[in-house]
Amino acid sequence: MARSPAAAARLEAVAAANRLHADLDLRRRVTEGQGFVDVFEAIGDLDIPLVFKPLDSALGLCLPAPLRGIMVTTRRGLHIQRFTAAHELGHDTLGHEGSVDQEILERGPNSPTDGRDLHEVAAEAFAAEFLLPRWLYRHHIQAQGWTLAHDLRRPETIYQLSLRMVASYEATCWGLLSHQILPYEQVRELSRVKLGDLKVGLGEGHKPRDSWADVWKVTERDHGATLVGNPDDLLRIELDESPSSGQRWGVEALGDQDWELLADRSQFQTSPVLYGAPSRRVVVARPLHGGLGRVALNERQPWATGLPNAPSFEIAIALQGPEQPGLSRIDRQRLGLNQ
Ligand SMILES: [Zn+2]
Repeated sequence: MARSPAAAARLEAVAAANRLHADLDLRRRVTEGQGFVDVFEAIGDLDIPLVFKPLDSALGLCLPAPLRGIMVTTRRGLHIQRFTAAHELGHDTLGHEGSVDQEILERGPNSPTDGRDLHEVAAEAFAAEFLLPRWLYRHHIQAQGWTLAHDLRRPETIYQLSLRMVASYEATCWGLLSHQILPYEQVRELSRVKLGDLKVGLGEGHKPRDSWADVWKVTERDHGATLVGNPDDLLRIELDESPSSGQRWGVEALGDQDWELLADRSQFQTSPVLYGAPSRRVVVARPLHGGLGRVALNERQPWATGLPNAPSFEIAIALQGPEQPGLSRIDRQRLGLNQ
């Protein structure tokens, strides 16, 4: 059967995104680095001018060569800014004429195509593949030890996966389908979930001040990671500890690191009750200022503080929210300008 023009346009766009990953060595950079595709950095690597402006009438636009440049609105959240930039990068990479985009679908190969401009279909497929390639899903699924049969069927897991890839929950769901990680029925089910209830559960009854802000759940497996999100995001930390031997995580340190402690409890295994078994320390905290920082915790024994081999947990925090008018943060950093 002959391929439809839309299917052919998508295939070409996906191949172009994969070529660009290879040209920029992104797979290695991402999996050994921050764990998400930094599209703003990639645009800078390609020497394409990128600027953010408070556009009301469009999410983004791109100027064709010889002018060449990408503009993205500051009126939307970071996930949409990233998808818009990747979409415009798609128009540029695929050699399309200039484009002004008012609406962008994040579904990539799963977007409806009836009567749609093939350039738009291609740019959407490019953006989805560029930001959310199959290898990025595999990287996080393996790093977290998530299983296909159990964990990936739970919206909680997909939500945490989306945060680590710095993408929306919905875009993450559709990537599961286009990469054939989960079947359509399951993805549709997952994509219908309302995130509000999930956030309240993760926050132990507390929720972010802004409805679009997120609740991160981090564990031992996230040691060394960088969280990229919004200044109002909440942090839920779950770590094993052995209270029976006096070992407790020094969560008071969060206060010195500019976090407000909202909840702190220990979760014990109840069936069967195992005396002396490790328990799970669950802490929920709110950043007082957002921005850049880190969370560093040590497990302490009351009689031997500062043991060299005491378990420690550390993550970097980049809760800066959407890009602001002007150059991207990464471009400012490269130019040595203050953020
Ligand atoms: Zn477009």
